[in-house]
Amino acid sequence: MSFVDDEGIWVEVKLNKTDFSQYRGRPALFLDRDGTIIEHVPYLHRPEQVVLLPGAAETIGLANKLAIPVILVTNQSGVGRGYYNWDDFSNVQNNIYKKLRQTDAWIDAILACPFHSEASGIFKQLDHPYRKPNPGMLFRANELLSLDLKNSWIVGDSAIDISAGQSAGCRGGAHVLTGNTSEETEIEKIKFSDPERYKVISISSIKDLASCIPLFE
Ligand SMILES: [Mg+2]
Repeated sequence: MSFVDDEGIWVEVKLNKTDFSQYRGRPALFLDRDGTIIEHVPYLHRPEQVVLLPGAAETIGLANKLAIPVILVTNQSGVGRGYYNWDDFSNVQNNIYKKLRQTDAWIDAILACPFHSEASGIFKQLDHPYRKPNPGMLFRANELLSLDLKNSWIVGDSAIDISAGQSAGCRGGAHVLTGNTSEETEIEKIKFSDPERYKVISISSIKDLASCIPLFE
């Protein structure tokens, strides 16, 4: 089943155990996928490549229990570059959900952007508003679920994730060190750009998140 909309973006609100009206006005937990909740594999597109990072399922499960909407926002230029297609993406996602279910954890909404400056055909876009560091996916999720964006947080292994949270007007970004890049300089730059309004923290992995951000209080 495909959730690709007219603009070419994967936009999926999953009907889990939750009544979505309870998310109205609530701050969200935005999550990057690769290197944040699963091990980073370049252009991951096979279900068997999915390895949940330690603490990811537990942290997501805790957010579920606290009625914090959990929203995955993932750049998928591999689709735009023709390395894999949306069916592959969907199969990978299904394996992630299956693994999360073992801890009784779930993701509420998934947005994925296939556009990239080096993609091919219609996917070739220099600076698509949905591709992180742009905030389009976060804005779209906010439209769908009427969140409290100002108090939402984003978690990611890359500076573009943290930057997207800032551009969306979120409260903060948590940089995890489980990805494949070391972007301390870029992260520091964002950290000191507007510290009153946008808080940036660095944590070793998502397993430390709940004790470090106010969303879980
Ligand atoms: Mg990542």
